[in-house]
Amino acid sequence: MTGSSRHEKSCAAPGATTRHASSRLTRIAASLAVAALAASALNVSTAMAKNQWADYHWSLPANETQLVIEVNDCQEEPVPELNYWHPVDSFSGPNDDWDWEIGLAGGAITIMNGSCPANIGAFSDPIGAANSGAFDTRAAEFVDTPTVNSFNGSFGNSGWVGLAIVALPSNDSHIFYGETYLNDYYPANSTTYNQPLRMRKVQCQEIGHTFGLDHVKKDTSCMYSSRAFIGSVYTPSPHDGDVVNSITHDDGAPPPTPEEDGGGDGGGPCAKNPNHWKCQAQGPVFRGKATWAERYDSQDEMFEAADVVVSATVLNGSMFDRVVGAPGRGLPVSQAVLQIREVFKGKANGVVRIEHTRGLGLEIEDDPGYVNGDDYLLFLRQLGAKTYRVVNPQGRIAQ
Ligand SMILES: [Zn+2]
Ligand SMILES: [Zn+2]
Repeated sequence: MTGSSRHEKSCAAPGATTRHASSRLTRIAASLAVAALAASALNVSTAMAKNQWADYHWSLPANETQLVIEVNDCQEEPVPELNYWHPVDSFSGPNDDWDWEIGLAGGAITIMNGSCPANIGAFSDPIGAANSGAFDTRAAEFVDTPTVNSFNGSFGNSGWVGLAIVALPSNDSHIFYGETYLNDYYPANSTTYNQPLRMRKVQCQEIGHTFGLDHVKKDTSCMYSSRAFIGSVYTPSPHDGDVVNSITHDDGAPPPTPEEDGGGDGGGPCAKNPNHWKCQAQGPVFRGKATWAERYDSQDEMFEAADVVVSATVLNGSMFDRVVGAPGRGLPVSQAVLQIREVFKGKANGVVRIEHTRGLGLEIEDDPGYVNGDDYLLFLRQLGAKTYRVVNPQGRIAQ
């Protein structure tokens, strides 16, 4: 860090932009070091041998042993040059892989043809109640049948290429409904994703999340991921199948490991289970995990990739579900308004509006809402006038 001040005086000289940027990067690096220390201090939670996502798991209703995966082809106009995508193949491969590893007699998964909701896809109108209430409506519709709806469609430049959503009662860890999304925008616009095995891996991982699985730390399974696509194994591992079997239990039956169980057994009538969301005033909550479209190995790469790098203070956060929607996205989009404090790259002044997939009960876990008064260092990609999204969650650093 010493020495950077010597260059600051030459900012007005030809070619100074580079030096200016690098000295600012040095200051950014100082903020990042502090942020990294804080993060590592927080990251001391007990390592779970199981790659379970929080303590989420299914409690299957009586007489049900399988998850039903409904395949919904929401690509209204298939992109001809899309290599990965076929409405049957792209879903049946990962589902067969999971069926094999879970190893339930008669199969763990039934695949059915679903129908695409009118509000999903490029011609949707995601702004307003029709879209925002869609999770609730679908979750309620499928509450008696353990169902995962798989959607693929062009959801726009959202930052995520795949998304898994589980529905839980508001105070309980029993999954009763799930959704997966494959965003055709990325394979249609990026050679990185226009590859069958990569999209198969993304799909495999999203389905794994809906079983209640988190990421693994080694490249032994499609569940291997950091904050973006990495890894070469595109199928689940036997370990993944074992974890699914160990955490899933029948409604009313004692769970295999009660001490790790997050709450009562959901799905029954209210007398038996007053905590079920259907028996309460508040509706379900939706937790999401995303496979991010962009990844960066260093802050320098992130700096290069960003249109704008700023530090900013949240004026009007998204914690209270400021759902704005956006054309081409079939999921709720929330917006936070931040006051810029300092610009490190690009042209920006005044306020920035930051959009992310979120709203009305849906929270993507590594891209949570913004809280009023909080300060961030932000690596941003421009979506429109004064409107941005972070390049990926790594590009949002609390200060
Ligand atoms: Zn349970
Ligand atoms: Zn994931």
